Amino acid sequence: MKPHRTTHEADVVVFGAGPAGIAAAIAAAREKQKVYLIEVQNVVGGVMSSCPGMMLGSGYPCDKSIGGFFEELVSRLYHHDPPVAERRACSLANFGDEVVYDYEYALSTLYEMLAEAGVEVLFNHIPYHTHAADDSISRVEVVNTQGCDVFISKMYIDCTGNGDIAEEAGVPSRSGDERGLMMGVTLTFFMENVDWDKAFAESSDPYFTRYANMGIAEGRLPRTLPEIYMLKGFRDGTVFFNTVTVTGVDGTQSRSVAQGAQAARRQVMELARFCREEMPGFEKSYPTYIGPTVGVRETRRLEGLYTLTFADVAAATKFEDGIVACDSPLDEVFRDESTSHYSHEAALPKGEYYTIPFRTLVPQRIKNLLFAVRRLRISWTRVCV
Ligand SMILES: Cc1cc2nc3c(=O)[nH]c(=O)nc-3n(C[C@H](O)[C@H](O)[C@H](O)COP(=O)(O)OP(=O)(O)OC[C@H]3O[C@@H](n4cnc5c(N)ncnc54)[C@H](O)[C@@H]3O)c2cc1C
Repeated sequence: MKPHRTTHEADVVVFGAGPAGIAAAIAAAREKQKVYLIEVQNVVGGVMSSCPGMMLGSGYPCDKSIGGFFEELVSRLYHHDPPVAERRACSLANFGDEVVYDYEYALSTLYEMLAEAGVEVLFNHIPYHTHAADDSISRVEVVNTQGCDVFISKMYIDCTGNGDIAEEAGVPSRSGDERGLMMGVTLTFFMENVDWDKAFAESSDPYFTRYANMGIAEGRLPRTLPEIYMLKGFRDGTVFFNTVTVTGVDGTQSRSVAQGAQAARRQVMELARFCREEMPGFEKSYPTYIGPTVGVRETRRLEGLYTLTFADVAAATKFEDGIVACDSPLDEVFRDESTSHYSHEAALPKGEYYTIPFRTLVPQRIKNLLFAVRRLRISWTRVCV
């Protein structure tokens, strides 16, 4: 190991440059705080970049914008000349409107917003040791291609998706269902040069199940594809696929993610070929924007001061410290091949919403840590954090 190179002092260090980390870093920097945003990869966006161009869902509960960073980002895209995003109805039952957009413009806008706020973004920085004693984190050591840096900050915000920093600081967590299985990971992609009129002529079935079953029966598609979820992209003739799902991947283990990405990549190419050969409108199409890796939905669920429950959701609870409103169904993506179907169980009557309290992002013991990790709602245990 190379020796420590530099010690950086900051007001706020945010780990993970996905939507949560970007929003946290920008918000802190606008309050005149010295902010570092530390990312293990070499791009911002998190799942927005591992699934490039994936529609933004859940932004309009009960037909109103959730506001905040989401609203700022999409407003910039809507008001671009010409517009590079639009709001549209989701083709799946129980979901509200979603935003379809041009990925390259959205990514550039994220970089612009970070620069305007004065956030210092650091790529290829891997945290390897969080020093925590009693009730606070004293420093985090981070390795990069030049050596090791130390970050000493008043506040640390874990937006790594996996809760890597919080876990090492001793925050309790749970993962998986009662069998320990986590939701499948998905490799997204686009097909370009598609004739939309032909491709979506049968769109009353949002999952194109007839074709999927045919592909599986003939051994041309994997068994995990009994449904093909595809939808029109932002640009004419583009179709976005959010459907190639691999199970058994642990998103906290880089080797497991790499194996999942390899398996998923093979399946994307099989599906692209199947579409070209069998599905109307795809005759001259080809795959583009295949995700650089799989999108991970679920890993550790950290324990905060409060744990949101299914009962809270079902009762449409509005908490005093609620920071975001939600009305989406409990989105359950399959965990093993034997149950390879999606479930979008509606938890609330139409027109109702619940809020997520700020306390769910605050740990019990560590005073200078917050987290905003993927804390997906899980219907099988009726516990929602
Ligand atoms: C296919 C798919 C569809 C989805 N659709 C929706 C949807 O429509 N609406 C919705 O609300 N949610 C959706 N989600 C969930 C979505 O992933 C989250 O809403 C969103 O990405 C969460 O943002 P995040 O910033 O918390 O995490 P992420 O986007 O996962 O970002 C985490 C970032 O942290 C980085 N990182 C990881 N470990 C470390 C570390 N130790 N140190 C530093 N950086 C680290 C990662 O490289 C990444 O950049 C979907 C997920 C998938 C996979």
